[in-house]
Amino acid sequence: MGISTGPAWDRRTPRQQARFQDAALRRQVADSLGPFSPYWRTVLRNAGIRVAQIDGRRALAGIPATGERDLCPAGDPAAAAALVLQLDEAGWATHTDGAALRRALGRRVVRPGAYRRQVMNAVRPVVYWLGGRHLDLPIASTRDDLDVVARAGARAWRVLGLTPEDLLVSALPQDGRLAAAVLPYVALGAGAPAVHAGPAGAVAALRALPAAVVAVDGAPALRALGRLPARVHTILTIGLDDLRPIADGRTVLRLWGPPDGRWLYPECRDGGFDAGLHTFPDLEIGQTVDPATGEARPDDAAGELVVTQLGVRGSALVRWRTGVLHGGIRLEPCPGCGRTVPRLGPDLDTTSLTPTVQVAEQRVSLDLRTVAGALAARSDLAGWQVRLVPDPRGGRPSAVVAVAPGTDGAMSTRAASTLCAQIAYDVQALAGAAPSLVVLAPELAGQPPRIVAR
Ligand SMILES: [Zn+2]
Repeated sequence: MGISTGPAWDRRTPRQQARFQDAALRRQVADSLGPFSPYWRTVLRNAGIRVAQIDGRRALAGIPATGERDLCPAGDPAAAAALVLQLDEAGWATHTDGAALRRALGRRVVRPGAYRRQVMNAVRPVVYWLGGRHLDLPIASTRDDLDVVARAGARAWRVLGLTPEDLLVSALPQDGRLAAAVLPYVALGAGAPAVHAGPAGAVAALRALPAAVVAVDGAPALRALGRLPARVHTILTIGLDDLRPIADGRTVLRLWGPPDGRWLYPECRDGGFDAGLHTFPDLEIGQTVDPATGEARPDDAAGELVVTQLGVRGSALVRWRTGVLHGGIRLEPCPGCGRTVPRLGPDLDTTSLTPTVQVAEQRVSLDLRTVAGALAARSDLAGWQVRLVPDPRGGRPSAVVAVAPGTDGAMSTRAASTLCAQIAYDVQALAGAAPSLVVLAPELAGQPPRIVAR
């Protein structure tokens, strides 16, 4: 923990932020990932990177961006257990900072139970929520991680412009996913009273208690609450829809995070919708990759968000592909509140990379990043695109793969159809469903590969 010096988490200059992140990343690598994660050690080894080489956020760019399909190629979410750090008592003692260790050892002498509890709090996963877009990916947190989650929640509450006096009624379905799991820690961290009533209990809770804030996951949930009591001044939407048109004059603020993550990013009261979601740069390094290839892009370029979490144990996320497409991480100070934290949005696309598509008679959930991975693995292509093609009749879109063969000159019809069939087979094997169509597009030769999703 250490003594905090300098500006608060949300007022640091980009340089101070970068220095803080570099130091936190080095600690995360030296004390958590390196010694206790066989999974990440293997990822690094396969990428030809030594643990000691990861000395700052710049060095992260060499680590391949990883997502749920990379972790669970066979589609079995149990493989997510590999993300959880393999920490035990001896490991904890070796990799805990001096002050905390001395405190703990002091306690061991007088109260052995307290020492053991402190170690368990640090190393043992006690809460899981289900992340993932195609799989129900369990994300583990230790007791100490939950303190960090609650601290992020307290910050979010402040950014939202709420106080400990503001009573929250949550109508979120209690489904074990990030939002439902984390919102109680937001309220706890903020010291705000809360009822997590779910869709069925929210109306009754609003009648019984003097709520100032309601949390919903979208327009239907808000409508289901009927006319809100006059004292409700804020609607939190734990999703990305813009609910302002149906908010009846109340302030609407979004509070949302990628589903495999650990926290919810808030909008600020003064900046509102246009200012975007405020992130926590001391808890997480957010970066941008090309959604088709996973290669690093400048943070403020459009692309897919990848996150590396700092200072938490349980499931370790490193260059984790969130499936969230953004127009560029915004790095200038927020025009609303002046905070200097990186911001996302307002326009974020969370579905295009993992759409539900029509394949023959079936609706299939397809991860276009995995389709792209199947194409990138072939050395016989000179260019390719994965295209999401809208259905002119308003139904589900189709996934179409367009490829430029690597051979010079015209292909025989037979060779072309063999190539297309092989590609369909590869995609089926990796992504779990074949594309609707594989077409030859010689004009793509030499072009950078792309996912054309919107
Ligand atoms: Zn702001």
